[in-house]
Order: sequence, then structure tokens, then C-alpha cells
Amino acid sequence: MYIQFQKHLQPEFHGDLKVILLGTGTPRAFYGRAKPGVIVLAGHQAFLVDCGGGVVDQMVKAGVMPQRITDVLFTHHHYDHNAGFFDVFISSWRTHVTAERVFEGRSRPMNVYGPETTRDIIGRMRDSFEFDVKLRVSYNLSAEEGAKINYFECNEGVIYDKDGIRITAFEVDHRPVYPAVAYKFEYNGKSVVISGDTIPVENMVKHSSGASLLVHEAYNKAWLDALIARYPEQAQALSNPAKYHTTTLEAARIARDAGVEHLVLTHHIPAPEAEERAEQAYIQGMREIYDGPITMGRDLMVFDLSEPMSKT
Ligand SMILES: [Zn+2]
Ligand SMILES: [Zn+2]
Repeated sequence: MYIQFQKHLQPEFHGDLKVILLGTGTPRAFYGRAKPGVIVLAGHQAFLVDCGGGVVDQMVKAGVMPQRITDVLFTHHHYDHNAGFFDVFISSWRTHVTAERVFEGRSRPMNVYGPETTRDIIGRMRDSFEFDVKLRVSYNLSAEEGAKINYFECNEGVIYDKDGIRITAFEVDHRPVYPAVAYKFEYNGKSVVISGDTIPVENMVKHSSGASLLVHEAYNKAWLDALIARYPEQAQALSNPAKYHTTTLEAARIARDAGVEHLVLTHHIPAPEAEERAEQAYIQGMREIYDGPITMGRDLMVFDLSEPMSKT
């Protein structure tokens, strides 16, 4: 039989936090840098933070079948962070049969967390797909409960506290996108903070204090300035990131001030090639500020916190 099978799967249970970067890109389409999405595995749970386009394909490559996803967390509602949501919603709901096993679809409502505006924006996205959803219930016989969404809007506070897993949302500053949040995950004595998109904020230092891993967005100011000098007619669009993102050097200062154990950069602007020399050039100057390990995030990179400061 020439039936497709899933190449590898993440284990069903994780005794420690495990973080998988699905996409390290931005709204700009770029080879090898998918749009933002992060999987956080803890216990039996698989949380998805943000849903850039292509997020389901990235999840499958990472060994997390969409049927595992019952909880989706949004940092904010720029399209590079939410355009893939409907694919996640339907793919997690549908049962998928491969040569070696059956992946049971979600039979309960999906839990969607995010800042205020989430219910409105994701709700309208859900409504626009009602035609397809109805067919899946009536024709494909997908579980009707799975067609629903439970919304949890919160800009600041604990949003999840179950089975030893605690998730806290806290406000960042990505104006004019307001509100926008970051998330802190705590489990088995370890913690991970996912920044979302933001300028440097004191709240990040506060909530990242002593974190095992800080996944922070960053752009390289020198590279951006060089691009603006080369294409002055594009200056206005090119200088946008400087208004609501964090520079690589500012990210290093946040990691230093918070005393995090390991800093991972993502949402790279301008995106460097996913190779050592380009990435080292991108983080130039950061090591003089922050003396902990700095990793340039790449798509599908895995950080297993059961192994201190390791990456595979
Ligand atoms: Zn973004
Ligand atoms: Zn954004």
C-alpha cells in the first residue's frame, strides 16, 4: 500500500516543557522562515501560540499532529499571527487515518485565548467558514461540539492553571496594535516566555525574571538602516519595524536585566539566511550586553527543557 504515514511524532507526554519554533519569519514571505507559530508541550498538553499561514504544515513536520491541539493562544491580531487559524481549527477537528494509526479529531470546542479583540476577530473568521463547517457536520459527520469555540480574553493575568501547568498573559506594547500580549508558561520548575511582537517593555523584564527560556522577537537595526540607505524610495515601509518592534541589542538588554537562562530570537527582520555566518552577523553586539546563551531561532528548532540549555 502506498499510503502516507507520519514520519515522526512527539511523545504523548512531556515531564518538562518543550518548545518548538514553527516559524521564525514575519509578514514578509521568505524562503525557510515560515510565519510565526510556537508549540509548547507540557504534560499531555500541546499549546499553540499564534497561527501564521502554513502553521499546520509546520506542525506536522515538527511531529505534532493538529488533532493534539485543543488550546490556541494569540499574542495579537496582525495577520502573520492569525491567518493560519482556520486551518488549525478544521485540521484539529477532522479525524485523520494514516497507514499506522488513527488520529482522532477534536470532539470538544476549541479553547481560544488572546487579548481583547480576539473574540471579535476570530469569531468573524469562524463565521466566514460556516458554509464549510456545516458540510463537515452534515456530510463528513464530524463531531458537532468540535465546531464550537470557547473564548478566553485576557490582557494581564493567569489564563490557565491545570495539571501543574500555569500560563500567564501579560501586556506588551505593539501599538497601533492594541492590545497585544506575551505569555509565560510554567511547568515542573521551569518557565518559558514567548514575547509576541513588541517594543522593549518593562513588563517583559518583570515576567521573564529568571526564566529558563525567553523567546523574544528582534530586528537588526543596522541591517534595516543599510536597506533603507540602498532603497531610499522604500524608506517609509522599511522603517516601520522600528516603530513597534525590538532591536537585537534591546532584546539582549531585556535578557540581561531579567536574568534569563537562555535567549532565543525570532521574527527576524530583515531575515538572515538560516546559516551560521549570517546569523552570527545578525546578533553582532548582543554578547557584549548579555552573557548567557543566545540562539538564533530557526524554523522547527526544538528546545527541550529537560536538558538544561540544550537545543536539538
Ligand atoms: Zn508579526
Ligand atoms: Zn505584529
